[in-house]
Amino acid sequence: MNQTKGNLYVISGFSGSGKGTIMEHFRNRSGYALSVSCTSRKPRPGEQEGISYYFISHEEFLKRAEEGFFLEHAVYVDHGYGTPAAFVEEHLAAGDDVLLEIELQGALQIRKKIPDAVLIFVTPPTIQILRERLENRKTESQAEIRKRLLRAVEEGKNIGCYDYILVNDKVEDAVAQLEGLMRARRSLVSANAGFIRGIGEDLQKLKQELDNCI
Ligand code: 5GP
Repeated sequence: MNQTKGNLYVISGFSGSGKGTIMEHFRNRSGYALSVSCTSRKPRPGEQEGISYYFISHEEFLKRAEEGFFLEHAVYVDHGYGTPAAFVEEHLAAGDDVLLEIELQGALQIRKKIPDAVLIFVTPPTIQILRERLENRKTESQAEIRKRLLRAVEEGKNIGCYDYILVNDKVEDAVAQLEGLMRARRSLVSANAGFIRGIGEDLQKLKQELDNCI
């Protein structure tokens, strides 16, 4: 069954919640499109231009924001982050499900612009595990970890703005839960206007055939 247009999924969560790993399961899968954000922060070891992010200068970030290049944008722990609008619009129009991994301020901007976007918040089972994951990944300084944990305290107050909560204990389970949610979404009557119109036309033809047989 082909949906008329794609669904937009906004995935947010505490830094260290594992949302990036969940997103990776959808990379290069047909029917899904992962948005690549622009950021003014420096690449971490292993991050790749155009895959992890488009790494741009602070000046370039401000210029693009001014020009309306972004669907949403926000400042997170001293750096700018933004979603290129054209990519999202093109893929939704083509019927793909688009996934954005963005933080709260961006999620709220999306909610306003695209009310039927689905907002999902990813969390580890406990805050202690969150802390350990962030400290063990050793990609940030102690000061940066502290800022991210403080940010988590703030973000935790806003989980109520989201539609779904995804508890990421085992990543395979979290992915399976997300896939189930997406399948259900694809079955919505409102997402299948074209298919339903076709069924209606076929039923009309059937009725005419049946009437002619009397
Ligand atoms: P990180 O620096 O760890 O890659 O990302 C920091 C935060 O920025 C994460 O919560 C991530 O989800 C968020 N983020 C990444 N890209 C975007 C974006 O395009 N827009 C917004 N609003 N947040 C983003």
